[in-house]
Amino acid sequence: MVKCSFCDKPAVYVNRVNNTAYCRTHFIEYFERKVKKTIRKYRMLGKNEHIIVAVSGGKDSLSLLYFLWKLSRKNPGWRVSALLIDEGIKGYREYTIMNFLRVNERLGVPYRIASFKEYIGMTLDEIVEEGRRRGLPYLPCAYCGVFRRYLLNKVAREMGGTVLATAHNMDDMVQTFLMNLAKDTLERLARLAPVTGVASHEKFVKRIKPFIEVSEKETTIYALLNGLIQPEYYKCPYAEFNIRFKIRRMINELEEAQPGTKNGLLNSMLETVRLLAGSRKVEEEIKTCRICGEPSSHDVCRACQFRIELGLLEKPVFRLE
Ligand SMILES: [Zn+2]
Ligand SMILES: [Zn+2]
Repeated sequence: MVKCSFCDKPAVYVNRVNNTAYCRTHFIEYFERKVKKTIRKYRMLGKNEHIIVAVSGGKDSLSLLYFLWKLSRKNPGWRVSALLIDEGIKGYREYTIMNFLRVNERLGVPYRIASFKEYIGMTLDEIVEEGRRRGLPYLPCAYCGVFRRYLLNKVAREMGGTVLATAHNMDDMVQTFLMNLAKDTLERLARLAPVTGVASHEKFVKRIKPFIEVSEKETTIYALLNGLIQPEYYKCPYAEFNIRFKIRRMINELEEAQPGTKNGLLNSMLETVRLLAGSRKVEEEIKTCRICGEPSSHDVCRACQFRIELGLLEKPVFRLE
C-alpha cells in the first residue's frame, strides 16, 4: 500500500511528475488549491459573476460544476448556473443527461438544457445522416463542434451569464494543440487561451477554462471521490472518427514513458498562444453574421453555413452595399 505523503492514510493518487502521494482528503485539497490558483493567475473571475458552467454530464464538466458550486457558496458575489447542450446522440447523451440530473439533485443549481433539435432544427444523428445523403465532406465532430460552440455562447448570453466556464483539462488542451500543429492551423490556437472572448464582440460571453492545469486523471479522481460519476463510462459513438483519440493514446504513452510530458506540452502551448497573440496569423477580425447576428469570423457564420448546406436554411441573397 502506498501511503499519503502528508499523513498515514492510504494514497488514492500518486503524482508521478513530483512523486507525491495523496490520500482522499489531501487529494481534494491539492486539486482545489491548484484550480483556485489557475483562476487567480489568469484573472478568470471578478467580484460579481453569473457563471454559466457548460456541462455534458461527463466527469470533467460535473467536477467543474461541483467545484464552482462549492466555491460560490463562500463567495456571495458569485452565482452558478448550468447549461447542457443536447446534441441528440442516441444511446449516449440521454445517459449523461441522467447523470447530470442525478448530481444536480444534490446541488440544486439552476440549469437549462438546449437541444440541437430546438435551435438548429435537427439532432446530430439526423445531421450526420443528412450530410451523408447530400455527400457533404464533414465528419460528425465538425458539425458537433461548430453547433456546440455556437449554442454555448448564444444560450449562455440568453441566460444572463457574465462568464462561461468550460471543463477543458490539460489533456484536452495538449491534444488540441498537437492536432492544430499537425493540421497547420495555428490561427486556431487563440481559442486555446485560458481566457477568451473578452471585449472582442458585444455578443461574445467571456470564456474561461479553470481546469486547464489539471490532468484528465486528476479530474476523474476528483469526480469519483465526490460521487459525481459511476465508474462506468459512456463513450460517444462518433468518437472513433476523430483523430483526437489516436493522439490521446499517443500522448498517454509518452507520459507513461516520461512523466511530465503533458506539462511540458501545455507550457509550450500557453507560450505559443501568448507569442502569437496580436500577430496577423491569429488575429481574426470579429464580424457579425449577416444571417443570425451572432459573432463570426466571416460574413456568414460557420453554423449558418452548415445549416445552408444541410438544407435547414435557404441560401440568402445579399444586396451589395
Ligand atoms: Zn493525507
Ligand atoms: Zn449565423
